[in-house]
Amino acid sequence: MLLPVFCFSLAIGLGTRYAEAAVISTLDDFVDKSLDFVVIGAGAGGGVIANRLTENPNVSVLLIEAGGSNEGVLDVAAPGLQNFLLNSAWDWNFTSTPQIALNNRTLAVPRGFILGGTTSINQMIYTRGSSEDYDLWANITDDEGWSWDNLQKYIRKNEQFTPPVDHHNTTGQFDPNVHSFDGIVSVSLQGFPNGIDNRTIQTTSELSEEFPFNLDMNSGFQLGIGWVQATIGDGTRSSSATSYLGPSFISRPNLYVLLNTRVLRVLKTDHDHQQSDFRSVEFTQDAGVTTHTITASKELVIAAGTFMTPHILMHSGIGDSEGLKSLGIQTVHHLPSVGKNLTEQPIVRNKWLVNSTDTLETIARNDTLLAEVTEEWERRRMGPIVDPPLSFIGWLRLPENSSIFQQVPDPAAGPNTSHYELIITNGALSHPAPATGNFLTFSTSPSSPTSRGTISLNSSNPLEYPLIDFNFFSTAFDRFVVREAYRNTKKFLAAQSWDGYILAPPTNATTDDELDEYISQNAADQHHPVGTAAMSSKSATYGVVDPDLRVKGLVGLRIVDASVFPRLPAAHTQVPTYIVAERAADLIKDFWGI
Ligand SMILES: Cc1cc2nc3c(=O)[nH]c(=O)nc-3n(C[C@H](O)[C@H](O)[C@H](O)COP(=O)(O)OP(=O)(O)OC[C@H]3O[C@@H](n4cnc5c(N)ncnc54)[C@H](O)[C@@H]3O)c2cc1C
Repeated sequence: MLLPVFCFSLAIGLGTRYAEAAVISTLDDFVDKSLDFVVIGAGAGGGVIANRLTENPNVSVLLIEAGGSNEGVLDVAAPGLQNFLLNSAWDWNFTSTPQIALNNRTLAVPRGFILGGTTSINQMIYTRGSSEDYDLWANITDDEGWSWDNLQKYIRKNEQFTPPVDHHNTTGQFDPNVHSFDGIVSVSLQGFPNGIDNRTIQTTSELSEEFPFNLDMNSGFQLGIGWVQATIGDGTRSSSATSYLGPSFISRPNLYVLLNTRVLRVLKTDHDHQQSDFRSVEFTQDAGVTTHTITASKELVIAAGTFMTPHILMHSGIGDSEGLKSLGIQTVHHLPSVGKNLTEQPIVRNKWLVNSTDTLETIARNDTLLAEVTEEWERRRMGPIVDPPLSFIGWLRLPENSSIFQQVPDPAAGPNTSHYELIITNGALSHPAPATGNFLTFSTSPSSPTSRGTISLNSSNPLEYPLIDFNFFSTAFDRFVVREAYRNTKKFLAAQSWDGYILAPPTNATTDDELDEYISQNAADQHHPVGTAAMSSKSATYGVVDPDLRVKGLVGLRIVDASVFPRLPAAHTQVPTYIVAERAADLIKDFWGI
């Protein structure tokens, strides 16, 4: 039976831009039609591929997305309401396995379950990483196409830098020379000032040796503290759904979009009589009661993200034969690296109690005030919720003579790549907000972590969630760098600019042991997982995809999402994913001559 597809998004009166239903398809729309490509997952990677391939009206694409529409979802559209999306109907709501180094705590692991994927629920921070990160990718894959210089074209295709919504003078806040003004995803500086902005800027002058100001962390040289750029335009989230899959693109007659449709497996394509040919996809729209199969004439592109891409592969019999056998899944293609190399940045959100009421929680715990600022946003796209609640990020390195480098080599991609990140937030990021107190949060995380985890299966049922084991802090380096990052935030806040502002630290821990315990109690995942279907050079015996993102040893199957990163760049991961996907679209077009 063919089921209609329903949109179940929460419709809120937001004006025509958000009130119209998305253009979606039903199975009947393409029965008897030939589909050139089927793309699985409409997030950062999948949105780009669906858009770029359908630029050619002769190419047909079916985009399959497990979640529903983004249309009319206020918390998705208004940047400052992002916190409400966690643990909501638009979140897959994964949970990690107990993390040994975190006192066996399990962690909430959000991912977007919605058109736009995680770009519809993320915090919108726009960071590319350091040029050395991409040069290392080129080195690992033996493909110069992945180098920083050669990716510039794709960075520019993706970005459309726009003025902030309050139209303040942005001179000295970014470098226009390193940005693109005619790409597709809107990017802007903050549109509403935060109470801590002047103090932060003053600290970069006062302590310029240790915490230098960086005019633009997205120039390829990331080190220092700079103003946040975010994927926001006109005070509104710019996601893969609103940009690459925006109204003028999603309505293309050659693009079909199936929402609320879960892919279970990819299958060998029988009519081709080739063992290695995978162009068919099995999916369900009713939680497995009925299943359907569709075959692409050219390629399947899996873009289901770092957790679900290896999950789909393994359920299809593509993975480590030993692990598959133990679950009774027949191995169709032995590829041991599937699900390995999971790389993620753990984060500790260090909350200082402050002597101010001009912070996030003042609004977050007052329903009347929250309703007022929401109304202001709906009427004029102005006010405090035009931004996420942070205006500065720092990318910093450990001193060269740090004792840890006597034990382990420097894991950063090069001497201009950070070891840790500081995210400076005007309030506590937790949701719901703490019942009392006002806070300044300095989140600390290793930007070049060395721990590696896994994605594995716990049953042969593709509707069950994967096992996500980050294996956090399994290396001495990761613990060392997070301890030192915390100590350095204390130095930052000891600057005169903060006199009278800080009332109490997040912890009284000072020794390594005490800090380790504090980290174990408080670390979480930063939501930047990558690497579980990593690319490697054509000749490498490890890895899942080749540098053209084709699954090694198979035909017809490509992967385009954050799972293919061979290493985590010192960055938040949406922009690197967009960049990968923009290049992937060209690789696919070149391959098929379309
Ligand atoms: C809370 C949060 C905050 C973040 N903040 C930032 C930030 O500020 N800046 C930044 O750069 N990055 C941020 N990120 C990370 C960033 O959004 C992701 O790295 C990026 O979206 C990854 O893109 P992707 O294409 O790999 O996966 P996704 O964007 O997750 O897309 C995968 C898509 O596949 C769909 N899918 C999965 N399985 C199936 C299936 N079986 N069948 C059909 N569809 C399926 C999913 O529903 C989803 O739509 C954040 C992430 C989270 C969770």
